[in-house]
Amino acid sequence: MDVLKKQQNFFRSQQTKEVSFRIKSLKKLRQVILNRESDICDAIYADFKKPRFESMAAETQFVLAELSYVIKNIGFWAQAEKVSASLLNFPSSDWIYKEPFGTVLIVAPWNYPFQLAIAPLIGAVAAGNTAVIKPSEITPNTSKIVAEIIAAVFNPEYVTVIEGGVEVSKELLLQKWDYIFFTGSTRVGKLFYESAAKHLTPITLELGGKNPCIVDETAAIELSAKRIVWGKFLNAGQTCIATDYILVHKRVKEKLVAALINSIEASYGRNIEASPDYARTVDANHFNNLKMLLEGQEIIFGGESNAADNYLAPTLVNEPKLDSKLMEGEIFGPILPIISYENETDIDRYMMNYGKPLATYVFSKNKKFQKKIIQTYSFGGGAINDTIIQITNKKLPFGGVGSSGIGTYHGKMSFDTFSHKKAIIKKANWFDAPLRYPPYNLPQKIVEKIKLLF
Ligand code: NAD
Repeated sequence: MDVLKKQQNFFRSQQTKEVSFRIKSLKKLRQVILNRESDICDAIYADFKKPRFESMAAETQFVLAELSYVIKNIGFWAQAEKVSASLLNFPSSDWIYKEPFGTVLIVAPWNYPFQLAIAPLIGAVAAGNTAVIKPSEITPNTSKIVAEIIAAVFNPEYVTVIEGGVEVSKELLLQKWDYIFFTGSTRVGKLFYESAAKHLTPITLELGGKNPCIVDETAAIELSAKRIVWGKFLNAGQTCIATDYILVHKRVKEKLVAALINSIEASYGRNIEASPDYARTVDANHFNNLKMLLEGQEIIFGGESNAADNYLAPTLVNEPKLDSKLMEGEIFGPILPIISYENETDIDRYMMNYGKPLATYVFSKNKKFQKKIIQTYSFGGGAINDTIIQITNKKLPFGGVGSSGIGTYHGKMSFDTFSHKKAIIKKANWFDAPLRYPPYNLPQKIVEKIKLLF
């Protein structure tokens, strides 16, 4: 592949090893994004009517804040780190060098089509790699503007965008990359993992999952409902860390349902289809799939739809069966199942029924209960008494575990993800302990003492 060869040659030219070169490139990227922020929001709106506020908060401003943070810290992160030396190697100084992998492939999904193409790139460039980005074909307007922005900032032998669908993606996957960063579904993530294995290419997989939200009988119901509704119906439920289903203690279920309905109406009004603050499902396929998930379910709120616009109202479903289609996999849309529990065994049954989720949320005033959920179950990350916000602190790693992904990024974690840590010992010549050299004729007692030096 011509682009890949050119990037490999450019990487070998050593230009990306200069931290000043990386900073200059990232500053230019920041400026072009700032200049085109309005066009970016328009493009995302054209793709699935994402409200402008959501595009700014979760796409452009998110990326701009990440850029400023990385630009400020990259000089420090890129420095070789001195670690304390081992007596065994005396006299030496011991170092960790941060080395870029080389040429990176970044493949993005459609739900945060700008953020999820650019945020990994920031880490890749900060660490000194070259990159090829493949945005999602399902959001073509955003894909186009991502390509335009990258072309305005970088030479293609440094960073470029290859637009296209599954066939283009498959072709890219056949190549030998030095690192792959994939964001998308668990199903496609497995294909990426398999392809990466053929070349022993290291890979980050940012995948999805079925994220539970547990509300116990001590929770502040009105506030909990407000925070759950915000995180769930933002982006019309198409957020990888959105609540997938609620497990609520049966004593407070009725109160919670009423509060959820109040919050939905307070957020989007009575005529939700006319609300400028509510996005659409991304396309007809996704819309039809969500409609199919609702078949045979008891809808307690919402359910209205308009196929002409891929509009599906925020929808609450009462007690879906565990073996129903709705509860089989990740919903990834504005449907919120509400399931009551009586005791912790009921919670356990649900928590253990799915692979490790990307997020888990707990609404409770009971510190012991909060701690128990955090310690008992494995999941990517989460929040106590809120949803989604774990993604907003650059000092927190973002990523899944098990079926929700491999690896983390954001802030320094992005720099680390795209850097190989090279161990170097610098040995001095003025002294050379004879112990390690044959013939090995040290008395046993001294050999046993040596292990204390390890
Ligand atoms: P997807 O897996 O269908 O597609 C992701 C990317 O892979 C796209 O660029 C697509 O062109 C490409 N692709 C699709 N099928 C392919 C194939 N057979 N071979 C090679 N490439 C292929 O995911 P999506 O529908 O775009 O996004 C939704 C999923 O992404 C959800 O599961 C969601 O939870 C997950 N997601 C995860 C995160 C995260 O950070 N962990 C963020 C956003 C979305």
